[in-house]
Amino acid sequence: MSLVKITPSKKPYVYLDYAASTPIDPRVLKSMIPVMRYYYGNSLSLHQKGMEAKELLESIREGFAKILKVAPQEIIFTSSATESNNLAIKGIVMADMKSNIDKNVVTSSQEHSSINSLCNWLEKHGLKVSKVSSTNEGLIDINHLKQLINDNTILVSLIYVNNETGVIQPLEKIGELIQKIRQDRLEREITTPIYFHIDATQAFGKIAIDITKLNCDLLTASAHKIYGPKGAALLYIKKGTHLEPLIHGGGHEFGIRSSTVNVPAIFGFFKAFELCQSLMKRDYRKCTSFSNKIIKILPQKISGVHFNVPKNIRLPNIINVRFDYIEGESLVYMLDTHHIGVSTGSACASSFLKASETLISMGLKPEQVGGSIRISLGRFTTKKEINYLLEILPQVVEQLRRVSPFTPAST
Ligand code: PMP
Repeated sequence: MSLVKITPSKKPYVYLDYAASTPIDPRVLKSMIPVMRYYYGNSLSLHQKGMEAKELLESIREGFAKILKVAPQEIIFTSSATESNNLAIKGIVMADMKSNIDKNVVTSSQEHSSINSLCNWLEKHGLKVSKVSSTNEGLIDINHLKQLINDNTILVSLIYVNNETGVIQPLEKIGELIQKIRQDRLEREITTPIYFHIDATQAFGKIAIDITKLNCDLLTASAHKIYGPKGAALLYIKKGTHLEPLIHGGGHEFGIRSSTVNVPAIFGFFKAFELCQSLMKRDYRKCTSFSNKIIKILPQKISGVHFNVPKNIRLPNIINVRFDYIEGESLVYMLDTHHIGVSTGSACASSFLKASETLISMGLKPEQVGGSIRISLGRFTTKKEINYLLEILPQVVEQLRRVSPFTPAST
């Protein structure tokens, strides 16, 4: 008998936290089983089992490269988007450390904690980091970005789709701007390179990504946001980008990321990505229709509802909404008692009950940030679940308002 048992709840649960992590697609799960069973060799071993693992790994790399229209050697597999983001930023900053000492990095005030806390850490160690502000709608302020980039900027790192608001940033435009800066530096014989990293974790598999048009040097993606397994992610590294490894060891992944490669998880990642290619339009349409329904019905059922972001600039699967006189955390707990799972802001920050920097950067007042929740939908969300949410959510909001110290007596 094992000391650890699994006891998953058998009760139906309305999971509306797809932006935190998605359930694995059963087709992905099924496809991974023979890989786990037979491809157990270390891809660096010289015998048959090692070579089988290596061959499969390289064909997965080619598959990603083909879909993304890049070279296979430009794809590095990692364990998570957090690791890819760390590899991209620390890797660039630490490459040629001595000459980078007076350089700076530009990022935004609405990055995921894996970038935000890393940049805060780098700042503590002497690197200058500037953060671009956001507009009230949650878009990165391009004029401010232009002001922040100077001849000492070695890296611009920006989120593609915000994990809390779903806002799609105009990164093709920003990529163009950075390309112009590169040209200008070349003409002025300034040798400092400027790299562009994109955290595409929430965009990957949800919208078509054109790396050439984005003009980026580095791009992060993760399997568990696209119905793949945990423990697999990638970093696209454009040929010629000089970056220091984070993990030193046996030399896997072209020496950039040592450690025995998790071939089954990476296989699952690829299967999930392939499925996203064929289901992208369908998933998008479905989420759009559910999102539209929520936007229409919720304000009819309850007053004091505000959607924090206009729907035309965000992905349809992420809805950030706030309720007057309510605390988001209480709402999350109450909805959970009704078997509905949503979150306040990002799951990675919400356990610390930290106010969302993304919403603050959009100019929301602390009480408005506190009253906001994120509802995130996905491939397996059903009409019945949305109807249940629309029945329970207004009831719970009313219940909380009745006991809220913030509710005015007349309401
Ligand atoms: N970046 C973004 C935009 C994310 O949404 C997340 C996950 N919430 C991450 C990075 C970190 O992903 P992972 O869990 O794969 O480390």
